[in-house]
Amino acid sequence: MNIAIIASEAVPYAKTGGLADVIGALPRYLKKLGIQTTIFLPRYNDIEGTFVKDLQIEMRKVFTVKVFKKKNYYFIDYPPFFKRDGLYGTKGVDFDDNCERFTLFCKAVSRFINEQNYDIVHCHDWQSALVPLYIKLNKTKTKSIFTIHNLGYQGKFPRSKFSLLGVDEKYLKHNGIEFSNDINFLKAGIVYSDFVATVSETYAREIQTPELGFGLNDVLKKRSAHLYGIINGLDYDLWNPQSDDMIYYPYHDFTGKMKNKVSLAHECNIKAKRPFIGMVSRIAGQKGFDILTKVVDEIVDMGFNFILLGTGEEQYCDKLKALSQVYATCISVNIKFDNKLAHRIYAGCDFFLMPSLYEPCGLGQLISLKYGTVPIVRKTGGLADTIKEFDPSTQSGNGFLFTEYSSQALIEAVSRAYRLYCSRELFKILSQSCMEYNFSWEESAKKYKKLYQILLKS
Ligand code: ADP
Repeated sequence: MNIAIIASEAVPYAKTGGLADVIGALPRYLKKLGIQTTIFLPRYNDIEGTFVKDLQIEMRKVFTVKVFKKKNYYFIDYPPFFKRDGLYGTKGVDFDDNCERFTLFCKAVSRFINEQNYDIVHCHDWQSALVPLYIKLNKTKTKSIFTIHNLGYQGKFPRSKFSLLGVDEKYLKHNGIEFSNDINFLKAGIVYSDFVATVSETYAREIQTPELGFGLNDVLKKRSAHLYGIINGLDYDLWNPQSDDMIYYPYHDFTGKMKNKVSLAHECNIKAKRPFIGMVSRIAGQKGFDILTKVVDEIVDMGFNFILLGTGEEQYCDKLKALSQVYATCISVNIKFDNKLAHRIYAGCDFFLMPSLYEPCGLGQLISLKYGTVPIVRKTGGLADTIKEFDPSTQSGNGFLFTEYSSQALIEAVSRAYRLYCSRELFKILSQSCMEYNFSWEESAKKYKKLYQILLKS
């Protein structure tokens, strides 16, 4: 089986969030199952690679695009579009030519793929969502799967840009690319792929409801016979406290973990003798920052220290930075993208907070489990599928959950976590048992393999 994977980010080349972790890991685990993969990415910077060929791509005018190869990756190179500070925008504001950038990417990839022999193209999120349509138009035998990692980002652009796509008007109307009088790349992916997948079973159900369907719930419902939920795995080669060379002290137990806590306190300039709640996150409404920013002071007054690492919307960053000045010895706010500090926060904190409004899968809770950092999460999407409330009487469960999307419900979950922290022995038991959970890619890759097999027989 020969699969082309098309995405806009992948570890180690470019990352803004969990999509990059998935694309960086899934191919390696598919390979273990005998599946060959080739990954297509934009060439954002001077990634070394061998020049393969030029492609002449028409998009109102002719663009000369270069293709570079490195191992099983192909990079689509057009420097005016891709060599920029930021993948999709800067300071939380999208680039205004994202339609042009990712139409060019999809067209170039589709042209290149047509000259090769792939059984399946597996596209991810709106940036690659035009590929299934282009593949269909070329009438090859290649089949397509489209995985939605986040329905909140759809690639919506003014209708006037439709002619950039170079396809017949009939694809605009009538269950096509048009949505609320705009064009919508994600919708194109949903409508024109053979199969649609998303990154957890709960999220697969949620996106078919008006509450979390972002207007596409009916479109998704129509595809429900071919809509699958497969939870992401975690790449334990990269995320493993026993072999992690980015943390202060690699560890396998609670005692080792506590040494990391002391060093993290030192690095972040906060008091060590309090429970730590950490967050490593895009700072966006989706991640629950509206309900959180209202109660950070209450969380600190309860007895916690709070450490945040993230980038994103200025309104939340400013509020959080202001709070960190008021509570200088208890709150550390780090507005940057910093992989090393991320590893250290996962290792050094006692709890990891994800109060998300919605969460397609979520990797933060899976990483924190591996590092013995107890998740406090809202019960939605992949968080609901992976975290169960800890029951002190049976010692079952692996975290703390709340359901209602409110500051009050969040505080109640945080208080339960605090009470547990105070009964030291139980907290230690929970932290150690979190480390034992296994959400490796092995199982999820097997599910993708099965899906590919079903698709090839369909
Ligand atoms: P999403 O994909 O919605 O952003 P996930 O929880 O699925 O959220 O994945 C987020 C990934 O990005 C995790 O690997 C997390 O550690 C990482 N990450 C997010 N923000 C930062 C940051 N500022 N610095 C370093 N890593 C980050």
